[in-house]
Amino acid sequence: MTTTTDPQDAGRTAELAQRLSAVRQRILHAAEGRAPERAHGGELPSLVVVTKFFPAQDVLRLRELGVRAVGENKDQEAGPKAAEVAETLARQEPPVSPPAWHFVGQLQSNKAKHVVKYASWVHSVDRPSLVTALGKAVRSHRNAALAGDARPAPCDDVDLPCLVQVNLDPVAEPDGHRGGAHPGTVLELARTLEGTEGLRVGGVMAVAPLGAEPREAFETLWKLSQDVQREFPDARAISAGMSADLEAAVAAGATHVRIGSDVLGPRPAVR
Ligand SMILES: *Cc1c(COP(=O)(O)O)cnc(C)c1O
Repeated sequence: MTTTTDPQDAGRTAELAQRLSAVRQRILHAAEGRAPERAHGGELPSLVVVTKFFPAQDVLRLRELGVRAVGENKDQEAGPKAAEVAETLARQEPPVSPPAWHFVGQLQSNKAKHVVKYASWVHSVDRPSLVTALGKAVRSHRNAALAGDARPAPCDDVDLPCLVQVNLDPVAEPDGHRGGAHPGTVLELARTLEGTEGLRVGGVMAVAPLGAEPREAFETLWKLSQDVQREFPDARAISAGMSADLEAAVAAGATHVRIGSDVLGPRPAVR
């Protein structure tokens, strides 16, 4: 794939390889310790490497190292990066398939039409108005693609899997929308997703609240996931766990972990 003789470049790839391998070991180890009912038949949690703040070159290196899923939290950054990665990989001989892009950040409804151009998953659906916007965006992208006016996107062929992001902050207000839906509204939002043409409910997602024990938060997420799966058996995804709490998330039954800094290194502090 990307062949280079630049020693700095080779150094970065080696560094990523080493960090990636350590994270994969942690996932394996954590998965071995899972209780049987949280082990998903022995299937390992999927690793989504969150590449926000790092360049397309790093995504290409990760792809070379076998990473198949990457996460981003801002459309302004993800859109151009996904396009650059796709173009570079398509030029390779033989062409390499791009990674799946998982959108994991707060999403404004007016950005939905951009995100559906590259995203294979959206982890951060937390309100009905965003469901409406995403459904509309998928349907209009499909029409444009059929008319030859848009490049193919993952949502042209399959309904876009969306996760209900839950706010697990113990003092969450029912209408406080920063970073997730109130736990009491999760099932309703799952129904809205499933009832929207072009979308499907894939499961649930959360970020452990600051200053709280992640184990408790992920336990709540697990219970909410069970509620959702009773009505939507295919909505099995539980996206939980970042660099600092990967182990707690996997123990609680996470199917997807979103790891940034432990693979890519520290991000600049201001964002
Ligand atoms: C940045 C980010 C991550 C990765 O966080 P790290 O602590 O760097 O592993 C995971 N999930 C979301 C929603 C993020 O924004």
